[in-house]
Amino acid sequence: MKLKRGDNVKMLSGKDRGKTGKVSLVLPEDGKVVVEGLNMIKRHVRARKQGQKGQIVSKERAVSASSVALVCKSCGKPTRVGYKMTGESKARICKKCGAEI
Ligand SMILES: [Zn+2]
Repeated sequence: MKLKRGDNVKMLSGKDRGKTGKVSLVLPEDGKVVVEGLNMIKRHVRARKQGQKGQIVSKERAVSASSVALVCKSCGKPTRVGYKMTGESKARICKKCGAEI
């Protein structure tokens, strides 16, 4: 999984194509991410108790990690992610400008 929470990503498909948002949740087992405010679905919730109202709730739906691209902080472009070893640790780098992300 190349994405992590807090990353800025750009949607590459679906109705929110071209929009950017922040990753709020990563689901590594499913290869999916949840992006704040994007790929919203509406759930119609029925009243459970008397006196309670049924309502429509908007919620983010997880999208496949392959349908978003990470937006590089230094060049501002959607990019692929590369890795670079710095000493013991692995750093993510932007494939376009080479900056660490
Ligand atoms: Zn870059």
